[in-house]
Amino acid sequence: MSLLEINNATLKFGGVVAVNDLSFSVQEGEVYAIVGPNGAGKSTVFNLISRFYEPFAGSFQFDGQNLLECKADEVADLGIARTFQNIELFDHATVLQNLLVGRHRHRKASLVEQMFFTPSVRREEHAHREAVEEVIDFLDLQPYRNKMIAGLPYGVRKVVELGRALASGPRLLLLDEPASGLSVEETQDMRWWIDDIRKQMGITVLMVEHDMGLVSGVSDRVLALADGAKLAEGTPAEVQSDPAVIEAYLGA
Ligand code: ADP
Ligand code: MG
Repeated sequence: MSLLEINNATLKFGGVVAVNDLSFSVQEGEVYAIVGPNGAGKSTVFNLISRFYEPFAGSFQFDGQNLLECKADEVADLGIARTFQNIELFDHATVLQNLLVGRHRHRKASLVEQMFFTPSVRREEHAHREAVEEVIDFLDLQPYRNKMIAGLPYGVRKVVELGRALASGPRLLLLDEPASGLSVEETQDMRWWIDDIRKQMGITVLMVEHDMGLVSGVSDRVLALADGAKLAEGTPAEVQSDPAVIEAYLGA
């Protein structure tokens, strides 16, 4: 069974059809990439899955559950985490604090329990810390752990954004342009991390990315979008050699 299954999704903004009768599915354990020119509808697909946008039509199933029955703040509880094309972190908090925010969905204690810092709250906090420290180690963020986000280089903030999503312990990770703005070396690191996220952590990855080197390096399957619709789908090699894709990209 597919972990994520989208059928006949459509969303319009005024006269613009951002997503047009789009169907695709993501299997558990795979890295699935969405590529396409600017304005193709890639981020909109993520916003539909995250329930930020309400589709005009279509079905959205995650692990057999109807996503359309969820509100945006319930999607994370199902085990779907995302990063944003434009980094969304708390600038005036530390790396550690930002990653602890990523643990939000696992907090069980009531506000009163938290205020009085009861033993159960202490145990819970300990578990959150451990989970976050694991992510910090995994992403080599130790040198930055107590630094304020605002003062960090872009490349590091991009990694923290990935960390915040990972800290929530997702089953499905949505990465919106994980390599945008990164140097060649930073992109290489991102590639190893995405590989390890899938192989070591067993997390399914759905990503939007422009860097075809990264896409080919980590993806099992690729979906090429144009004007909100499916242009091609297959292995990275199949999609890159597809005449319709070449035409859309090169305008030939
Ligand atoms: P991509 O991520 O592939 O670059 P987007 O999904 O951001 O593309 O956008 C797809 C289309 O939908 C574009 O034409 C864009 O202008 C439009 N669009 C996206 N979000 C909105 C919105 N909130 N309001 C109006 N139009 C939007
Ligand atoms: Mg986008």
